[in-house]
Amino acid sequence: MGPQPNVSFGQTGISLKVDFTPVASLSKEQSSTYVKETCLKLVPGKDVSRRLSTLDDEGQLRMAHAMALYESNRVPGSDDAQAIEWLLKWGRLSKALPGDSGQRFEREALSASGLVKRLLINGLAPLTDKTVAELESIYSPAYVSTGTGTVRKTPPLKIGLLRNGLFRGLTQLVDGQIAYFEPGKGVKLQRDSMDWFKEQATHVQDYVKFECGPYPLANPDSGLLTGYELSTHLESTEAVQLNDRRLLGYLLNRAQVVGYGSAYGKPFATADFDGLRDEDALYDLMGELLRKPGMRDKVGRCLQLTGSHSSDGTIRMNPVIPPETSIGRTELRWNQLRTLIHEFLHHLSHPDFNDKADTIGHGQIIDEGFVDMITAIIFRQLADEIGKKPEMAERFLRIKEPAKPSARQLTTGYAEAGKGADQITGKIGQDRAYAGFFLGATKFLGFKK
Ligand SMILES: [Zn+2]
Repeated sequence: MGPQPNVSFGQTGISLKVDFTPVASLSKEQSSTYVKETCLKLVPGKDVSRRLSTLDDEGQLRMAHAMALYESNRVPGSDDAQAIEWLLKWGRLSKALPGDSGQRFEREALSASGLVKRLLINGLAPLTDKTVAELESIYSPAYVSTGTGTVRKTPPLKIGLLRNGLFRGLTQLVDGQIAYFEPGKGVKLQRDSMDWFKEQATHVQDYVKFECGPYPLANPDSGLLTGYELSTHLESTEAVQLNDRRLLGYLLNRAQVVGYGSAYGKPFATADFDGLRDEDALYDLMGELLRKPGMRDKVGRCLQLTGSHSSDGTIRMNPVIPPETSIGRTELRWNQLRTLIHEFLHHLSHPDFNDKADTIGHGQIIDEGFVDMITAIIFRQLADEIGKKPEMAERFLRIKEPAKPSARQLTTGYAEAGKGADQITGKIGQDRAYAGFFLGATKFLGFKK
């Protein structure tokens, strides 16, 4: 394999050379020597012999071709030492091989080196001060920017109003979630098999990795490049361990939905709640609500019926099939697919992005809003393709006749947090939103701190 067509990365204009001439006819030993010498040339003193020797034949081949790609495309200012580290880690865990269809090997290798990330970030212009100022009141609704700085606009918290509004709204939300799955008298609950979700997960992972533009794959530390497999990290929501942390976490998450939600009378606004100032008060209130008679059981049941993720990469899918009165079977399939994408995106969000939730008033914009905004973008693209190709309907939904998902599933959910993410992305553009979310380039998201 000598010179090949360039590999391009979505609509970003990034187009990189593919020329394997230097490594095309090398034996295993020669491949290894080539990698060692290239590393020494890029970073004097960088000895990778020991780590190379632990790779099998395919690994040696993979590394030699990846080094050739990296060396011929690196740009001034590239961190070669870091690129070598990333490539060695990826080379050990990847299954990609030169010659894979759709230039998948080339896209993986160049992404794993960090080069694509660097080029994507270099290609984005910084935000203007005007845009940053406009974003502030979305991130932190309780604050307002003046000519000379930022001031809090909310008076002291009215705890009684907050308690009443949240307790009423959350009880309604929790009861509604349970009722949605209630099978009715004498009817047995039906369940989907976890094997089905595992199959679906394999296709979802592949789709996000290669069909959703360069950003998801461009983070060299992403699970997409370091051997994570969604299908082996799936669990049933019914197996979730119910402890205080999880029960409280569920209520705190839903408190944001209720607190900002017009359907619940916006208790945060009524009570002059400030997410940065009143975090502890909210935490205490949720503890109080959880101690009310019957509440632990109800919240526990909700956890067993709601998709979720853990920081170790575990993703839980709800296998319970709601009765036909709640949702039709085809709509349920679409909904499961959407949930799987949503939970998987949590796993792919960059830690530096996630850390920003604590620095703004409406933290759920970061915790959930962006996740669901990107979920909706990917889901719309996928739903469009599934609508045209019956074999994709079979693969992703296990149905023969792909009716469309309901309009509700095609737009960003998560109430006000989702609206906030939509508004922010409208102002900064999808590329910057993706760079912040997937690559941790949070400077493009316009935070004040
Ligand atoms: Zn979520």
